[in-house]
Order: sequence, then structure tokens, then C-alpha cells
Amino acid sequence: MPEGKIIKALSGFYYVRNETGELIQCRGRGVFRKNKVTPLVGDNVVYQAENETDGYILEVFERKNELVRPPIANVDQAILVFSAVEPEFSPLLLDRFLVLVESNDIKPIICISKTDLTSSKVLQEIEKFAKIYREIGYQVLLTSTKETDGLEELLPLFADQISVFAGQSGVGKSSLLNVLRPDLGLKTNDISTSLGRGKHTTRHVELIEVGNGLVADTPGFSSLEFITLETDELSYCFPEIYDYGANCKFRGCTHISEPKCAVLEALGEGKIEQFRYDHYVSFYEEIKERKPRY
Ligand code: GDP
Ligand code: ZN
Repeated sequence: MPEGKIIKALSGFYYVRNETGELIQCRGRGVFRKNKVTPLVGDNVVYQAENETDGYILEVFERKNELVRPPIANVDQAILVFSAVEPEFSPLLLDRFLVLVESNDIKPIICISKTDLTSSKVLQEIEKFAKIYREIGYQVLLTSTKETDGLEELLPLFADQISVFAGQSGVGKSSLLNVLRPDLGLKTNDISTSLGRGKHTTRHVELIEVGNGLVADTPGFSSLEFITLETDELSYCFPEIYDYGANCKFRGCTHISEPKCAVLEALGEGKIEQFRYDHYVSFYEEIKERKPRY
């Protein structure tokens, strides 16, 4: 049986791109009843061809992850777009996005946009943050869609991946996608909630080809709440805290007040940035205080 990937879902049809690059319009016959799974964009599927252009989905392969808004499966990486200015760069918001992305087993790529609008003082500040995040192990790009800075660095990162853009409204997500795929003619504006789409049109997601990879045309992580994350999972989302935490005296150390905590020690020695640690503690409290939902 042929296999492929769903790159678009619309009006009950799933558009499956098969291994030779053809697009097959499929129905989900059987899949829903048999294993109670609703196919999603990003799903790898087995389908039965009825003719050269139509078929139906027989089976959905197990997912690596699944986003709710936009509904998309098997996301490999998220391009976290944060503008240097307009709106101002916020390390707190960046750390929140990093936690959300990492906890979904998605690789973050930090993209600091609008570098053409920065004064040299602001740029210096941004470079300082970029260095800190690079030292933690994250990839950080500085981009401008006006002067095309950093775009040649960004394009190859899409190859063979399913990527999703994320970030506040107005940071330049649509503008980036627009320069990467000028032929799509996506609209940009300051209040858009989706890439190239008005607020009120039906929300559907499509994977579009960018640089030998696939990118969701709707940004992800619109909800910034830690809905399913548990306190003991938080340190996995702070790589440097996780690393130092391996040497804490107590198993299950929360790194908040325990004696012989290697994280607190590293913090005291300046090996962990104070602002990163503060964000860890603040997220920890937020998750702890989360009221049970039932
Ligand atoms: P989105 O809401 O994240 O999709 O943001 P948009 O792409 O719609 O951009 C919001 C505004 O910022 C628009 O007015 C863009 O023209 C502007 N913008 C985006 N990227 C850049 C950039 O690199 N440099 C400058 N100067 N303006 C930008
Ligand atoms: Zn500890």
C-alpha cells in the first residue's frame, strides 16, 4: 500500500503527498471507525488509491506530537520569532515559548527579527542575549526582512522538517514566510493572528514547501498556558538547569531551596544566568498553583 503525508485538510478531504510528490485527494474512510483517530495535517499515512488522483486513508502512523491550535501532527521544530524592537524583546516570553515548545518534543530555533530597526545600543543588548542562549545550546538567528539579514542562514534549516512559526503578533512571522515564499503573496499586518489570513476566516492549516521542507502556514502556540506540564518536567525544558541538576544531592531536587543543590551552586558561581533561573522558579510556582481542572 502506498504511503504519504497529509499536507492539507479541507472540507472532509485530506490531501496526501506521496513518496513521488503527487498530491492525492483522500477521504478518511475506515480510519475513524477502526482506531478512532482523526487524521491531522502532518500525519504519515497509508492510503489506498482509487485512481491517479483520489484515494482513501487506511491507517495513520503513530504521532511524535500533536498541536491543538493549529491542529497539526509530527512537528519537528518551531521557529520562535521575537522582534528586537516593536514589540520589545522579552526574555521572559521567550523562556515561556521555549518551555512550551520543548515540552512538546519540538526543537526550538530562536529568530530575533527586525534587526534593521535597532539602535547600536539595542543591538548590543540583543547580541548579549543571543550569546547566552547559544551557550545554553539553542540556535539563534538575527534576521531582518528589510535587509534580508540572516535569511540565508534560516532557509537551509527547513530541509526535511515540519516547522511551525511561533511568536507574538506583529513580530514579523508572516513577513519572514513572505520573503521565503514570495510567490504565495501572504498578507502582513500588525494585528494578524495567523500567517496571511484574516482573523475571521475559517481556521485551517496547510503545510507549504519552504527550502526542501514543510512549514505550517498558521503559527503555533497561541495558548501560552502550561496546561499539561508538571513541575517535575520543567527542568527538562531548561537545558542548563537540567545539566547541573544531575549533580544535586537529592533525587527529585526542585532546585528551589534544597541543600547541596548543584543548580543553586552553579547559580551562585554565575554559571547559570539569574534571569533564566528566576523564570524557572516563576514557572514552577505557576504550575504548582495550577488549580485542578476537574
Ligand atoms: P506577524 O504578526 O508576526 O505575522 O507580523 P508581520 O509579518 O505581519 O509584521 C508586523 C509588522 O512588522 C509589519 O508592519 C511588517 O512590515 C513589520 N516587519 C516585519 N519584519 C520586519 C523587519 O525585519 N524589519 C522591519 N523594519 N519591519 C518588519
Ligand atoms: Zn537541585
